[in-house]
Formats: sequence, C-alpha cells, structure tokens
Amino acid sequence: KTDTIGWNIENSYARLPEAFYAETLPESSPSPELVVLNYPLAEQLGLDANMLEGKEGIELFAGNRTPKGAKPISQAYAGHQFGHFTMLGDGRAVLLGEQITPDGKRVDIQLKGSGRTPFSRGGDGRAGLGPMLREFIISEAMHALRIPTTRSLAVVVTGEPVYREDTLEGAILTRVAASHLRVGTFQYAAARQVVPDLQILADYAIERHYPEVTGDPNPYESLLQKVIERQASLIAKWQLVGFIHGVMNTDNMTISGETIDYGPCAFMETYDPATVFSSIDRDARYAYGNQPGIAEWNLARFAETLLPLLHDEQEQAIAIAEQELSKFAKLYHTHWMAGMRAKLGIFNEEQEDVRLVKDLLQLMKNSGADYTNTFRALTLDQWEGLPMCKASGFDEWLDRWVKRLSRQPQSDEEAKQLMQQTNPAVIPRNHRVEEALKAAVDGDFSVMEKLLEVLADPFAYSKEQAEYTEPSTSTTPYQTFCG
Ligand code: AMP
Ligand code: MG
Ligand code: MG
Repeated sequence: KTDTIGWNIENSYARLPEAFYAETLPESSPSPELVVLNYPLAEQLGLDANMLEGKEGIELFAGNRTPKGAKPISQAYAGHQFGHFTMLGDGRAVLLGEQITPDGKRVDIQLKGSGRTPFSRGGDGRAGLGPMLREFIISEAMHALRIPTTRSLAVVVTGEPVYREDTLEGAILTRVAASHLRVGTFQYAAARQVVPDLQILADYAIERHYPEVTGDPNPYESLLQKVIERQASLIAKWQLVGFIHGVMNTDNMTISGETIDYGPCAFMETYDPATVFSSIDRDARYAYGNQPGIAEWNLARFAETLLPLLHDEQEQAIAIAEQELSKFAKLYHTHWMAGMRAKLGIFNEEQEDVRLVKDLLQLMKNSGADYTNTFRALTLDQWEGLPMCKASGFDEWLDRWVKRLSRQPQSDEEAKQLMQQTNPAVIPRNHRVEEALKAAVDGDFSVMEKLLEVLADPFAYSKEQAEYTEPSTSTTPYQTFCG
C-alpha cells in the first residue's frame, strides 16, 4: 500500500461535513532547500529519510507536490484569543492527510507556512525561517522531556521572502500531530449551531483519541472527562519543567492532550510565577503561574460546546459539565505533586510534602534562583553553589528534606536516580535558542545542530551539556514574538 518513500496516507478528517474544512493546495515554492530533517521521526513514521532528503522529499516539504493519496485541506476552527471569541481556521497551514505509521498509529502531516488559504483573512499565509526553526527546536526538546507534543519532521526554506518587521527568508515546517482537533474546532462547530455536525465531530474525536469510551452510557461526558484528564496531566508537566506556552488561546489547546503552537513560548529561568515572555501578552494573562487556571478556563469553553450532547435538558447538561470541570483542579494538583515528589527523590506520599515543595519554591523565589539549576544542584548534591544556599531558611529546609528522604524505604542512591531521571540537566535556554536561530538565519546551521543534540537527551547529565546549563547573563528581560 505504501509508495517508495513510505507514505500510507488516509484522509479521515476530510470525510467530516464540508463546513469543517476547505480543500486547499499548498502554494508552490520557487527554489526550496532542506534545512533540517528529523531522522528518528521519519523512521517512526515509516518514511525513507534518504528519499526525503532528495529532490522528491524536498518538493513534498515545499508543497510543490503532494504525497500519493493525500487530499490537502485547511481546517476551520474558532477560538478565544486573549479572551475574545473569533472565527479562525488554518490561515497558513495545510493538512496533507494522515500517515498510518508502521505500528498502526494515525498522525496528521501538516505543512505550516505553505501559503494563503480561505482562512487567511489579512495574512500572507507564510512563515519565516527563524520562527519555524524555533518550533522545531522547542517541540523536539519538549518531546525529549517526555511531554506530549506535536512533532517537527522537517523545515525547508522556500526561496521567497516573507515581509514582517524585517524581511525574512520564507520557510515551511512539516508538523506531525496526533490530530489538529482543538478546543477551537468544537467552538467552531458549536457556533454554527448544527447539532448533528457537532455530534459527528465529537464522535470523530472519540474514535480518534478515546475509542475506549465509545460504549459508555454518556460518551460525550466521557470525552469531556478524558480531555480534562489529559490537559491536567499536560499542564502539570509544563509547570514541572518551567515551560511557558505564551499563547494559550482555545484554538491552541488540543483535544489529544498534545502541546501545540510554538509561537512566543519560552522556558522560565529565574523562578517567578509572574514570568511572561510574550511581547503581545501585555496583561500577563498567560504568565507561568496562570497556566493551570487558563487551562481550566479553556476547558470550560470546551464543556460549553458539548452541552447539546451532554443532555437533552440544558440544566442537566450544565450540571454534568460542571461536575466534570470541578475535577480539574484536583487532578492537576495530583499530577503536579507526583512530579514534584519525583523531582525531590520522594517515592511515597506524606501529608507534609506539599509544604516541603512550597517552601522550596518560596526560597527559590526569594533568592532569584534558577528553576532548572536548583533541581539539578539538588540532584547532584551541589547546593553549596546555589545563591539560595545562603538564604535564611535554606539549612532548615535542607534538613527537613534529608529527614524526609530517610523516612522512605528506598536508598539515597535510588532517590538520586529518580531525581536524575526527572530533573532535566538542560532545557532550551532562551539565549541558546536565540544564538542557534541567529546563526541559522545567517546560514550556519551547526550551532542549531549542536543544540538539538544536547537537548535530545536532557537527562543525560553529560559533560557536553555542562555549558548549556548556564542561565542567560543578559540584563534585559527576554521577549518573544509571534512568528
Ligand atoms: P496563532 O496565534 O499562531 O495560534 O494563530 C492564530 C490564527 O492566525 C490562526 O488561525 C492562524 O492560522 C492565523 N495566522 C497566523 N499567522 C498567519 C499568517 N501569516 N497568514 C495567515 N494567517 C495566519
Ligand atoms: Mg494557533
Ligand atoms: Mg502560532
């Protein structure tokens, strides 16, 4: 069934009612060149990397030809952007279809930056090289950190300029995702007020992501419950590594529970819940410490879209939705605490663990500590070097932690092992990402390649990683922009 490259494409999304998409061909690129290819991912997808590197592959990544069996579309969706409801859709992306992988998974193959679509509104449908490489680097770093995420298969430059504040080299990212179903896809369906279509979408989401709930007494309540569970787990993982998404609009929240849309995202260095990097997030709506609350808000918008399916009586439907939504905070906290215990080498549960964690975070905040490096230092027994070490209360905290570890059956050795498997030695630090992007845009890809290598195994604690653990020394606050 597969062709020579290994494509085995289906188009199940394109069998949904027509209102959910528009048939859209990618625009062609005059002189595409491959900039980066993800070899391990290509292999997982059942694709021949050698062929993808060749002319045929590059033409595919550039949108100049489509894989056999593909039916390219752009997807319709809506969303709350910074709290305001808007009709949206893929303005600069085309879904080629779904690759069925050798191990039977179905994943979307999407070109991002491939030109205008019927949903482009005023936009040019294009993307710049820097922002697409940024998505490549950070999404792959997230994957290596074991955080559910869309993946990046390749980036090509198109040979055409893109006009932003500066003139950029045009680029296309090939994005791989469990699906591109978003909370915003359901908002779009609900806004149309065609309940049969909404139900078809919900059934599709269940079949694709949560087939185990198909026979449940109320499968749509189960769908809501599953999405809430996945998102509670996902956001806890973000918080545990200090990832700040930056633009948690409802159109950027997936039904699958994968992280999506790496625009103005960045990793927190100095621990502070108020941290914001995005230049457009002026009200700090999407600050680090707000992310769990925003996720809950987004899930409430998702629940609202499902009301007509949850129960015939609206009042009952609302009661069901509220009942499910009320579980988010506890689920989130449970995941977060489980992760925090592991970060401190703790295997069992004690009531006072929450205090132990919160007191550490408070010490970190008071002393302006680097979040990642604090846990790394604790892992390596190197806390003497921490600025926090001299803060009042640290010795007392350390004493409590050491005593806590001695109250579990596991050895210190085992605790340290757990910590090393949980606390990344390296994250994509902002100055390192910028350095790699700057070199790449100037034609030198070696800095990015080295960075990708280091980020591919964040728990290695290798010698090569040491220089990547240094926080930025810049005195100006880091700012990110939407690409
Ligand atoms: P985002 O903030 O990346 O989630 O994008 C929000 C919306 O703007 C989505 O519908 C995008 O498809 C659309 N969009 C972003 N950039 C462009 C562009 N250059 N041209 C057309 N649409 C765009
Ligand atoms: Mg988006
Ligand atoms: Mg974006």
